[in-house]
Amino acid sequence: MRGVCGAQGVAKCKIWNVEQGRCGVGEPVHKNSKHQPGGMANDVPGGTPTDEPGDVVELINGAGQSPVVLVCEHASNFIPEQFNALGLDQAALQSHIAWDPGALGVAQAMSTLLDAPLAASKISRLVYDCNRAPHALSAMPVKSETFDIPGNARLTDMQRQERIETYYMPFQTQLAACLDDSMAKPQMPDAVSCLVTIHSFTRVYNNVPRDVEIGILHDSDARLADELLRGCLNAAAYDIRRNDPYGPGDGVTHTLKEHGTSRGLANVMIEICNDLIIDEAAQLAMAQLLTAALREALCQLSAAATDHGAQRSLKGAASNG
Ligand SMILES: [Zn+2]
Repeated sequence: MRGVCGAQGVAKCKIWNVEQGRCGVGEPVHKNSKHQPGGMANDVPGGTPTDEPGDVVELINGAGQSPVVLVCEHASNFIPEQFNALGLDQAALQSHIAWDPGALGVAQAMSTLLDAPLAASKISRLVYDCNRAPHALSAMPVKSETFDIPGNARLTDMQRQERIETYYMPFQTQLAACLDDSMAKPQMPDAVSCLVTIHSFTRVYNNVPRDVEIGILHDSDARLADELLRGCLNAAAYDIRRNDPYGPGDGVTHTLKEHGTSRGLANVMIEICNDLIIDEAAQLAMAQLLTAALREALCQLSAAATDHGAQRSLKGAASNG
C-alpha cells in the first residue's frame, strides 16, 4: 500500500490535490542572475514598524487551515528609534545585512497559496537575530559581512540581556503560540504538519560570487529536505543545493530545532538568492514554485507515514495472533 499519493503517479494526494511527480515545476519563471546584489526594487521593511517593546511578531493568516506554518525571521529591517540606526547609513540599513530582501514577499505569497499561518519578525536582525540563540555572537553582531555595526560594539551584559528579553523571548513565545494553535486545529488524518522558514541571501558575499541559487537547509530532521531535494524541484532550472550557502554549523537552524524538531514537526529552511526575488512578480513566481514542491514533498511524507502506520498495524495484528 502506498497511502494517499499512489505509487505510479496516477492517484491524487487527497490533502494537497497533487499527482505524484506532476507538481507543475518546470522552467524558471523569473531568473535574473545578472542583477547586482544588494538593492531591491521594493525596498520596504516587512511587518509593521513598531517601537512597542515585545511587539516583535506579525502573524499573517493566523486562521489558515494548512498543516504548514511559515516563519520569516528576517522579514524586516526596522530598527527602533532608541538605537539610532545602530550607527549605520541608509545603504547599510537597506542591504541584506539588516534583513532578507524579498523573503517576506515570497513567504506572504506562500501563506496565501497554502492557506498557511505566517509568523514574520518586525525587527531587524541587527537588533536581535531571532534565528540565533542568546549565547551566539551573531545574535547581536558587531560585524556583518564587511560592515561594522557601531551600535552593537561594546554592549554590556545588561544591554544584551535587555535585548534578549525585549526581542528574542517574545518572538519565541509568540511563535510557539502560533505553532500550538496551528497544531490544535483539526486536520486531514494523514496530513504531515511542518515548519518552513523562508530566507534570502546575497549573490556576492565577502566579494565572492555564489553559484547556489536555492538552498534547502536542515538539521537532524532531514525528512522534508530530503523529499524536496528528490522531488519535482529537481526539474526547476536553478542551482539547488543541500545546506548551502549555510548549514547547521553556522547556527542558522536555531528556529528549526527550537520549534520544529522539538515538536516532532517535519521542518526545513529555504534560502533563496535575493536577485531571484527582486520584485512582487518574481516573489510570486518563486512562491508558486516552492509551494508546488512543498505540496509534493508533504504528499510523499504523508504517504510514507501511512505506509509506516499500516505496516505497524499489520505487525501488531500478526503478533497479536
Ligand atoms: Zn535569513
